[in-house]
Amino acid sequence: MHILLIEDDQALAENLARALRGRGYVVNQVSRGQHGLNALKTDAPDIIILDLGLPDMDGLAVLKKVREHNREMPVLLLTARDSMDDKVAGLDTGADDYLAKPFDMPELLARLRVLERRLSTTKSSEIQIGDVALDTAQVRVTRDNQPVELSRREYMLLKVLMENAGRVMTRASLESRLYSWGEEVASNTVEVHVHHLRKKLGNSFIQTVRGVGYKIPENPGVH
Ligand code: CA
Repeated sequence: MHILLIEDDQALAENLARALRGRGYVVNQVSRGQHGLNALKTDAPDIIILDLGLPDMDGLAVLKKVREHNREMPVLLLTARDSMDDKVAGLDTGADDYLAKPFDMPELLARLRVLERRLSTTKSSEIQIGDVALDTAQVRVTRDNQPVELSRREYMLLKVLMENAGRVMTRASLESRLYSWGEEVASNTVEVHVHHLRKKLGNSFIQTVRGVGYKIPENPGVH
């Protein structure tokens, strides 16, 4: 799960990002509304956490822009202004949920899980391709109904490839979904994860598209 965090309070943002990463989320953090909107285009987040009080533009204006292009993107608002007017304006502008500062981390995590569940009911939570099944609600992978142990990044990589079955995913786009900005990425990192996944799921499950990237065919085994 890829979170775009738009929050200018550096201490809060750092704490939040650390807690979320500890839970297996990939977090890209920006402190300006405009940077958040730019990141939306390059970054394909699953959920946005958006502070209402930003230095360059009002959070509601950011939300409006987001909604012009994307009506489905779950947005959780954060605000220091715990007033009914702000809450109503936020929800009317299209926020999915709302949390007033200061908040407790467990509450934020619980709200995120609700948004994730909503995301996964719009899609099915289980993706089955060949003999491999990936359950995004349980964060579980099975092959031939036998559980397969994956590292966090192996799981994330497999999930992206299975969700995009039949499409070639470039190495760069895979990297951007596995690592947050500023995280050190070794040049062969995606290759290494793919190598491990093939050992666990069979050599032909993930195909190399030479010079471009990787794909999982929609109907593996059918040649
Ligand atoms: Ca703020």
